[in-house]
Amino acid sequence: RPMPADALVIFGVTGDLAYKMIFPALYAMARRGALNVPVIGVAASQWSLAQLRKQATDSIRQAGRVADRSALDHLLSLLQYVGGDYNDPGTFKALKLALGDGRRPAHYLAIPPALFATVIKGLNAAGLADRARVIVEKPFGRDLASARELNRIALSVFPDDSIFRIDHYLGKEAIMNILYFRFANSFLEPIWNRNSVASVQITLAEDFGVKGRGAFYESAGCLRDVIQNHLFQIVALLAMEPPAYQDYAAVHCEKAKVFQAMRPLKPDDVVRGQYTGYRKEPGVAKDSDVETFCALRLFIDSWRWEGVPWYLRSGKCLATTAAEVLVELKPPPQRLFDDSAPTDGRANYLRFRLSPNSAVALAARVKRAGKEFVGEQHELYLLNEHMGKETPYERLLGDAMAGNGALFTREDAIEAAWAVVDPVLVTHPRAYPYKPGSWGPKQADALIAADGSWHNPTLV
Ligand code: NAP
Repeated sequence: RPMPADALVIFGVTGDLAYKMIFPALYAMARRGALNVPVIGVAASQWSLAQLRKQATDSIRQAGRVADRSALDHLLSLLQYVGGDYNDPGTFKALKLALGDGRRPAHYLAIPPALFATVIKGLNAAGLADRARVIVEKPFGRDLASARELNRIALSVFPDDSIFRIDHYLGKEAIMNILYFRFANSFLEPIWNRNSVASVQITLAEDFGVKGRGAFYESAGCLRDVIQNHLFQIVALLAMEPPAYQDYAAVHCEKAKVFQAMRPLKPDDVVRGQYTGYRKEPGVAKDSDVETFCALRLFIDSWRWEGVPWYLRSGKCLATTAAEVLVELKPPPQRLFDDSAPTDGRANYLRFRLSPNSAVALAARVKRAGKEFVGEQHELYLLNEHMGKETPYERLLGDAMAGNGALFTREDAIEAAWAVVDPVLVTHPRAYPYKPGSWGPKQADALIAADGSWHNPTLV
């Protein structure tokens, strides 16, 4: 059993991610009595401890958390601050002093990726890496070469089981339910393959734009920002073989095999779009070709999935904010009833609702009352009402500190996922314009036309 971390060090504590996600998560942990170690923030600004405490308090209020004064006071009492540049060895000496008796710190790198190497080397040189853990935020590189380089640097200092790469999607209740639902039920397995599945679709839609983060988005785009990581993780959970034994290492192995079996993308597997108005966002180039929408067709060349197309789609400024998976099943081998062609909808399917709520629905045809054998499609609908109180960041931060790596991503999986998208990161068709509030450019409809049409998730 891994020993829990005895201190949490947050590099980038003055930044946006700490403000939006990390402080609210720490507060929630404090409320549950699950945070009892020093929390040391390290950043360039010469802040006082009072300033850091104010920032933490503002962030927690902003996140709309109900004030539990004693939990907040407890969190504030754990905070310490070290100001200094990460390029300066003196910063790490000051951190060592602040750590005192802390021997197993968890270092959270909530900093721009360009600084990962500097901080990891600084920690190592100061003797702060032994028995420590490192928590890394996405993006894990911006292509295959940079991901390899990042992994090389991290692994030169930390063993792989001490590196916790956060993809916060894996901490979401509805995503964890995919793994559970698949392997806790026996009825799914016989149909969960190329014999019964016609196609799989995943849509992750947002009805808002880049929200002032245009400069960041210009360096990413939709494919890098959400598809290579979040959507691919969902594909892996849907497509993986059952783990051979009950341990998270087995799950990691099976997920990695899915990425390794994915066929590298070609330019005509991808449709890129850009909402009109994006180029007017602050920080965005006037002639930007960065995609705010991306749809792609993917194949997994494995025994189970050979020939089954997977259609993935995500975008900003779309018609709604929701995420869903649709696993479309093949029609029965013979048409016994005149109405059995899916005129009133699709063929049978299984639908996983991932956000904003969590549900599973199975669409089946049911006979209408009357003498004729005429029916209609209905959904057997299972709403997972208990979404859980823990946010993904709270859960993942707690898991990383406890040393539980189940919900994190592994080096081999990340590199294999980059290898799939690498061929189309630079060589791709231009981004087609689309109207905000639509479902993206019409070229995306042509991409899926041979296998049907996109399923557009609704708000409810
Ligand atoms: P950010 O707002 O730009 O914050 C950067 C932090 O790094 C600040 O605390 C800054 O300190 C510190 N810093 C930068 N250069 C430094 C140096 N040379 N020495 C010491 N400190 C230095 O970044 P962010 O948006 O929080 O993002 C952090 C990480 O999370 C990135 O990897 C990002 O991709 C990832 N992420 C962010 C979000 C998000 O919504 N923001 C979402 C997902 C993932 P000072 O302010 O004191 O200069």
